[in-house]
Amino acid sequence: MPMEPVEVSWEIAADDSFRKVVQKGTKIAVHDWGHSVHVELQGLQPSRWYYYRFKVGNETSQVGRTRTAPPINSTPDELRFAFASCQHYETGHYTAYDHMVREDLDLIIHLGDYIYEGKGADGRFRKHHGDEIYTVDDYRTRYAQYKSDPALMATHAAAPWLVTWDDHEVDNNDADDVSQDKGVSSARLLQSRANAYKAYYEHMPLRSAQLPHGPDMPLYRRVPYGNLADFFVLDTRQYRSDQPCGDGNKIPCDGVYEEGTSILGVHQRSWLMNGLEHSAAQWNVLAQQVMMANLDRQVGPGVAVSMDKWAAYELERRDLLNWFNEAQITNPVVLTGDIHKNYACELLREFNDLDSSSVGTEFVGTSISSSGDGFDQPDNIDQLLSENPFLKYHNGERGYVSCTVNQKEWRTDYRTVPFVSRPNAPLNTRASFVVESGRPILNKV
Ligand code: FE
Ligand code: CA
Repeated sequence: MPMEPVEVSWEIAADDSFRKVVQKGTKIAVHDWGHSVHVELQGLQPSRWYYYRFKVGNETSQVGRTRTAPPINSTPDELRFAFASCQHYETGHYTAYDHMVREDLDLIIHLGDYIYEGKGADGRFRKHHGDEIYTVDDYRTRYAQYKSDPALMATHAAAPWLVTWDDHEVDNNDADDVSQDKGVSSARLLQSRANAYKAYYEHMPLRSAQLPHGPDMPLYRRVPYGNLADFFVLDTRQYRSDQPCGDGNKIPCDGVYEEGTSILGVHQRSWLMNGLEHSAAQWNVLAQQVMMANLDRQVGPGVAVSMDKWAAYELERRDLLNWFNEAQITNPVVLTGDIHKNYACELLREFNDLDSSSVGTEFVGTSISSSGDGFDQPDNIDQLLSENPFLKYHNGERGYVSCTVNQKEWRTDYRTVPFVSRPNAPLNTRASFVVESGRPILNKV
């Protein structure tokens, strides 16, 4: 794009042929913000479908569809949404999105790894443009490439999206100002982070409340769906202490018990606890990145947990789970991405005591494409389940997770595709669980 500002007009209508336009206006797209525009609307009717499009000169965009939330104090009967994560462009077709579009969902949640930062690799079915990304232009080009995928485009056009990032929007397994790459200074990582956050803001459906300021971007936020659900959209990357035991699967080191280490950071944690305490919602949903349950990945004697997850911040996790119980938080449900696998877990009050009670549930959703073709269940599945009695399901295929929520129960359906190396994979529902309100127990259906 040239340097000049560009006038973009927008229309929002009650019908997809735009006979009943309800609001319209113009925005100036400027070079400094990658010629992106963000239109914030007020005065629409609640619980309605709307259609929108943009025009520049003689060009008209494709039509997008979105839906408004119910009124804050209303009692909605039902919410149907899906969540997804981890869409490495090079490693597989976005077939899961082709299927998601057909579900007619009220909401789509993306839990991060929307892009991957690595350089283009040979021998895959498609290739990242350019080298590893650092500059604003690098990040913008990467988003443009990902957003050229027709299935992803159609899914954005089908329903409203609620997004948060994970690590690959900046750098693998990043924590605050610490890169995974040795020798990368904190100043350099913060510069990349500022570039990454800016491009993320430009390319995602975010409001000006989320506007980044240099390497800081206030992404965590609360989104109510009447009194049926409160979504606490978390950011477990920007404020976390460096992984105290490093990366990989390990026996937890002493650092996990160190006072003051945090995955949320002080401000986000008090915001979260305050919000949960005052929530009147039937389901309190933590839409976030990394696994909260303490999954022992070492088959046989001994325990090894992944050190990029909540397990590495044991004091904070234990405090939060104990507090769910003490403060009697209504129906906490944690949604997780990151690890390219499906898991269903009950969240124990004390993971060091496998007999302690469940205080919430966690649904970990697999990747859209990352890691390529998957597998249904690993050979050691029986042992994994028996060593982790809170774990009720595990699967390693690609896909997404659908949730149907009403005032009495929460239903989760694990939707998978058997391959992503070729197009047109069929969709399977591999497992379904129901949680009854007031009982944080996973019931297989
Ligand atoms: Fe990922
Ligand atoms: Ca073990």
